[in-house]
Amino acid sequence: MRIKTPNLDEIWLRWKQKAARMDRKKMEKEFGTKGAVFSLDAISAAEYVKDTTKEAAIYFAVKKSLGPAPKGKEENIVTAPRVGRVQYYSFKGAGKINKENWKDDEKVPQFESIQAVPCKNCKGKGYIEDKCKTCKGTGKIEETFTVLVGEEQKKEKKPFSYPCGACYGTGNRTEPCKECGGHKNLYKYEELPVPFQTVVTGVPVLHSSAQTRYEKEIGEDLHKMIEDVEGIRFSNFKELDSKAEASLGYWNKNIKKTINSSGSDYKSHEKDKDAQITSQIYLFPMILMHAETKRGKKFEIYSLGSGDKFMIYSNF
Ligand SMILES: [Zn+2]
Ligand SMILES: [Zn+2]
Repeated sequence: MRIKTPNLDEIWLRWKQKAARMDRKKMEKEFGTKGAVFSLDAISAAEYVKDTTKEAAIYFAVKKSLGPAPKGKEENIVTAPRVGRVQYYSFKGAGKINKENWKDDEKVPQFESIQAVPCKNCKGKGYIEDKCKTCKGTGKIEETFTVLVGEEQKKEKKPFSYPCGACYGTGNRTEPCKECGGHKNLYKYEELPVPFQTVVTGVPVLHSSAQTRYEKEIGEDLHKMIEDVEGIRFSNFKELDSKAEASLGYWNKNIKKTINSSGSDYKSHEKDKDAQITSQIYLFPMILMHAETKRGKKFEIYSLGSGDKFMIYSNF
């Protein structure tokens, strides 16, 4: 089956109307005649289109898994004063994250994971109890006084004790725990995988022999409005490869190259276990018109699709 390409006047008319709708003043400036009433009718393809080439585009859609999500978690335990120095993230109720928009690490500290862990060193008390070093745990300071007894003033040693001032007479002293710094707890937080979206549906794949700057835009348009453009559908690449020339009714080296490269792209998507091809393969005729305005401004117009249903693009 051969597809009917749009004729040049139809493309030109469609472009002219669209361009005038978008910026009539610019059209007047580029194509108007001084002293004459401006009319679109007077602007003809025959006069302003300098050259035309016939090209082709191949389109299919792919559903992609965005690679395996990062797995596992890392635990960190820090002291209370340090727990606030970490940058935390939260995804609670925030839905899945688009990996392409995410600039940070794939695993990040998450706020909801923070947990108090009682200090093992002090059993969560914040301090260590020990015998008072000053009184060796007795609670008393023992001294020996030398007392002069009687008329002879005979020296006699007599014990005397008073409560230890370091432990208030208890014999025990408490020191802040060195491990937790007296905060009773240490704090645990987890670096967890960012909850990425794992599947992206309908990624458009477009290859065109015209190598326009609109490939991305065309791909996206096709993805939204595939019913508005007519192409020839194939269910496998082999069939496309063998029927492309006859279906288009024209051929060139670039088209052949484009078919080859899109064929290997298609194959690599078929082999990729994270991808799945979700549409048929479409072959679209493309017409590339090189035009020049009355004022000498060069521009291009592309059409994509058949004479019945086509889309246009232009850098006018
Ligand atoms: Zn402690
Ligand atoms: Zn003491």
